Amino acid sequence: MVLRTGEQYLEAISHRSKAEIFVMGKEVDDVTKNPFLKPSVMAFKATYDAAWDEDSKDLGRAWSQFLNEEVNRFTHIHRSPEDLAAKVKLLRKISHKVGACFQRCVGFDALNTLYITTSIMAEKGRKDYHQRFVEYLTHVQKEDIALAGAMTDAKGVRTLKPHEQPHPDVYVKVNQVTKDGIYVSGAKANITGVAASEEIIVLPTRAMTKEDKDYAVAFAIPLDTEGVKIVVGRQLNDARRFEGGDIDGLPYFYNHEGLVIFDNVFVPMDRVFMLGDWEFSGTLVEIFSAYHRQGYGGCKAGLADVIIGSASNLARQNGVEKASHIQDKLTEAVFLTETMYAAGIAASLNAVKVGDAWWVNPMHANVTKHLVTRFPSEITKITTDIAGGMLGTAPSEWDLKNPKLRGYIEKYMQGMMDYSAEDRLRMTRLLENTSLGVAFMIESVHGAGSPAAQRIMFSRLYDFNYAEEVAKRLAGMKSDVKFVKKPEPWRESDTEKVAKS
Ligand code: SF4
Repeated sequence: MVLRTGEQYLEAISHRSKAEIFVMGKEVDDVTKNPFLKPSVMAFKATYDAAWDEDSKDLGRAWSQFLNEEVNRFTHIHRSPEDLAAKVKLLRKISHKVGACFQRCVGFDALNTLYITTSIMAEKGRKDYHQRFVEYLTHVQKEDIALAGAMTDAKGVRTLKPHEQPHPDVYVKVNQVTKDGIYVSGAKANITGVAASEEIIVLPTRAMTKEDKDYAVAFAIPLDTEGVKIVVGRQLNDARRFEGGDIDGLPYFYNHEGLVIFDNVFVPMDRVFMLGDWEFSGTLVEIFSAYHRQGYGGCKAGLADVIIGSASNLARQNGVEKASHIQDKLTEAVFLTETMYAAGIAASLNAVKVGDAWWVNPMHANVTKHLVTRFPSEITKITTDIAGGMLGTAPSEWDLKNPKLRGYIEKYMQGMMDYSAEDRLRMTRLLENTSLGVAFMIESVHGAGSPAAQRIMFSRLYDFNYAEEVAKRLAGMKSDVKFVKKPEPWRESDTEKVAKS
């Protein structure tokens, strides 16, 4: 049995001797006990629990053709469109358990991306990478490793290519190649869940040119490697975590992002999956971004369910749940949520086979993410409206716990008599932390690529000429339309072209 329990995961990440992890300027000894990181560790742990909980284990496990046994789905290579749909469903389900981003999907998508990219490279004669990668994948599946995926470079001057930058390592760069491995320097920014992971998979963040070949590098290393430094980023209301308590101080779950610095880090050659192969970096980026954009249809819909549930309960506590305008607003939030989810399922069931693995439908995956850049802020607007001003003004749990104030707070904070003032405070804090937090409001916009990145993909994938010829024929004009079997006016993605060529 290679499936780990959540407790085994916690044990595995509790001791690090080499990597340096910083939170608000202070070095962290044990991420499982640090009050800032603990909510994030507990959200990551839910991806292990999901493989054991009765209600989720059918989705949380998958059959590995490499080990011939069940593995955690977060280490699985998709073998069918149904596998891809199971990913979206699992993500929605785990969101219900944690109400936050659970951070493990970036590593999951990085595994699938490298599987397909190295297969394509093998077809073109660069066989070593795929063999190496499958060995690495087998290790990840056997040990049920907690992976972070690191793609976004620090980027420096946005108008310059990697090799043109004033600081040559603002994109992660290979400094030296030896027969045993490579040395890399640079930084990856906004890396989800990195301090809660055991290993990092590093991928190039953009299509490279020949001059950028030192930046066309993909590899995996344990987080606990000499020269790795993590600077965990701040978030809204984060200082509350140091307060303790069990209402305001985020006693439940959250996520974190970090800046990962590589200070001349050694990577053994058996962990290098791309080295100077700049021609394949664009394909890799296209594959990864589509995988992660599809996943958002699951996790953000699940988070929206928590937010809708919170607003619905607060309406009930306020006695207004039957008011027609409240019902109408909640119904609108449901429509927005189910639209995001439907797009993620469509991206899965209309998947594309590349070699012996399945990639998502690139058009639908980009549509999914583009909906997610818009709808969460609409949902937050609706639920803020329903919750009332208390969402931004509620007293603290410390007021409730002060014997001098408790009686007043209990009387004046109570709504309908079925609920206590403490219930109202708890639900208000949950809605505040979920609807206004990083995972719903910021990650939804920028995670897996900012909105402009999806619009570029729409214009690449949509065949405007075909649509125009269709229209010209119907208008009675001269038209060259040659009807094709597929109903959608779509061009092939670069990945499909490269895989076929
Ligand atoms: Fe997973 Fe969603 Fe978080 Fe990405 S944003 S890591 S898909 S939970």
